[in-house]
Amino acid sequence: MNITGKNNPYSDIGKLSHINRCIQCGTCSGSCPLSDKMDHAPRELFALIREGSYEEVLASITPWFCVSCYACMVRCPKEIPVTDLMYAFKEKAREQGTVPKNLNMTDMYDAFSKTVKQFGRVTESFLMGRYGMRHPISAVKNAPLAVKMALRHRLELKPQKIENPDTITRLYELTEKGGE
Ligand code: SF4
Ligand code: SF4
Repeated sequence: MNITGKNNPYSDIGKLSHINRCIQCGTCSGSCPLSDKMDHAPRELFALIREGSYEEVLASITPWFCVSCYACMVRCPKEIPVTDLMYAFKEKAREQGTVPKNLNMTDMYDAFSKTVKQFGRVTESFLMGRYGMRHPISAVKNAPLAVKMALRHRLELKPQKIENPDTITRLYELTEKGGE
């Protein structure tokens, strides 16, 4: 199957062709600490792409459960960039408007991305503030813990920035336009 063919919504992902090397050994799925929460373990997701079941992959909750631990990537005998592909699949779901509904982690992903795009690094108070705007009940529940942490100087309230956050913002904008 030509996984970089025209009808494949994933064909513009530069690293997609690596999937051709997948031998379906399942090492990635066996190494993944979240595979029992996913609707398709990473190995299955790649098999679905190779057989052309794109809609199933676009609607899959799997990439949203990926916590970027890199266990799959480190162990893959064919050196397939599984984690990078999970990131790309999330972006593709956003582009195609197929982000699964009712998943809190999609909002956490957005909050994380926006915070890094703005400052070049994560400040927990900003991250949780952004997430809390979409999940006010969760924000209220977490508020006492946040206050305790702030009083013990375990929660940074000022934004932590890299020296030139604009460079990260530009990188984000480039990748959002399909660059690599
Ligand atoms: S570990 Fe690598 S080769 Fe094995 S199934 Fe996963 S992606 Fe494919
Ligand atoms: S990087 Fe993602 S897909 Fe890979 S093992 Fe970790 S959680 Fe699972």
